Amino acid sequence: MQKDGVRNVVIIGSGPAGYTAGIYTARALLNPVVIAGIQPGGQLMLTTEVENFPGFPDGVMGPDLMEYMRRQAERFGAEIIYENVVDIELGNPLERVPFKVKTDGGREFLTWSVIVATGASAKMLGLESEKKLVGRGVSTCATCDGAFFRNKKVVVVGGGDSAMEEALFLTRFASEVKVIHRRDKLRASKIMQERAFKNPKISFIWNSVVEDILDAEKGRVVGVVLKNVITGEKNFLETDGVFIAIGHKPNTEFLKGKVEMDENGYIITKDKTTQTSVPGIFAAGDVQDHRYRQAITAAGSGCMAALDAQRFLESIGIIS
Ligand code: NAP
Repeated sequence: MQKDGVRNVVIIGSGPAGYTAGIYTARALLNPVVIAGIQPGGQLMLTTEVENFPGFPDGVMGPDLMEYMRRQAERFGAEIIYENVVDIELGNPLERVPFKVKTDGGREFLTWSVIVATGASAKMLGLESEKKLVGRGVSTCATCDGAFFRNKKVVVVGGGDSAMEEALFLTRFASEVKVIHRRDKLRASKIMQERAFKNPKISFIWNSVVEDILDAEKGRVVGVVLKNVITGEKNFLETDGVFIAIGHKPNTEFLKGKVEMDENGYIITKDKTTQTSVPGIFAAGDVQDHRYRQAITAAGSGCMAALDAQRFLESIGIIS
């Protein structure tokens, strides 16, 4: 904290992007505060084993990885606050007007820079059984979990590009992939549709929704109950895994109208940096990336945001 009570940097979010920004800014002696949210750790808290994060040859549990990142940030002095940000009052650091970051705990943080790393949330079907089986056969990320389904049967829910991409990726491991879509036409781009139609492992179940996932009692997926939305007919389909690919929603509600976003609410960053439309506000991780969406890419952009924030503070003379 500076003498005037204004922080150098406030980091919002505690997934791989937020904690990596915390590690880098803390090591740069910027005394960051990380506002972690009331459900800290981000999407990796919803997964079990992570096999593709470099440095863990035997894999690492998602929640453990996030705890290591938090401890690493704290080791260098990052302060972690378990509250949600509800609003940012824009400032103008170039004119020495700080930003004001407000939490649902009633706290206000004045700061010369902000790193937004609030991530995106996968949209879910909203079933009770789905909640219980996430990380136990229900997944929102084929890249993360596909390899656990070698020679197994899986279903993918959704009809957009994400669903086609997930289905195609899963054919590398699974013995069969059934795409369940609520209409009889895909939303996905033609090229992705064609690739999926051509793949012999992929088949489609049209006009159908998942009504239930079994078996929550056993703690693993054995099948889904499908309902045909036209005939109302229900039937049971055996499967070992359910991949939900019905879209993501970036967590940017509190920034609406303040920072430039695309039509889906993802923050727009400039010129391959993490700089947003507001000088002094940086964005890292899934909140600005709907293409890669990996823990390692999020961590990488958290590092970039920390370096961008540090250079910004130097350029306006807050630090030397
Ligand atoms: P999306 O285009 O919004 O598609 C979501 C799909 O899920 C739609 O087919 C939708 O059905 C279905 N859906 C939504 N809510 C549902 C529910 N509650 N129950 C059952 N089905 C539901 O999302 P996305 O596929 O994640 O793509 C998002 C953006 O990223 C798109 O612009 C896409 O082109 C882009 N993207 C591109 C690539 C690529 O080019 N390789 C890869 C991934 C994503 P309806 O069709 O009936 O609405």
